Amino acid sequence: MTHETKQCPKCGGTDFGKGMQHGYGVIMPKGKMLGSPVEHLICPVCGLILESYVTKPSRFKDAWF
Ligand SMILES: [Zn+2]
Repeated sequence: MTHETKQCPKCGGTDFGKGMQHGYGVIMPKGKMLGSPVEHLICPVCGLILESYVTKPSRFKDAWF
């Protein structure tokens, strides 16, 4: 991932931490068996989640049923 400069829209902070959500937090594609953990970009000052990503985006291709 590129290390571009982001700014928190809430508190203006520019330092961020990464969080992983897995276990029961896994997102499942509709109609499929394999889900993906979610990675969040979090502002450690105010707690805002700036961005969320699934770590296996290809599993959500054609998940539409
Ligand atoms: Zn913030």
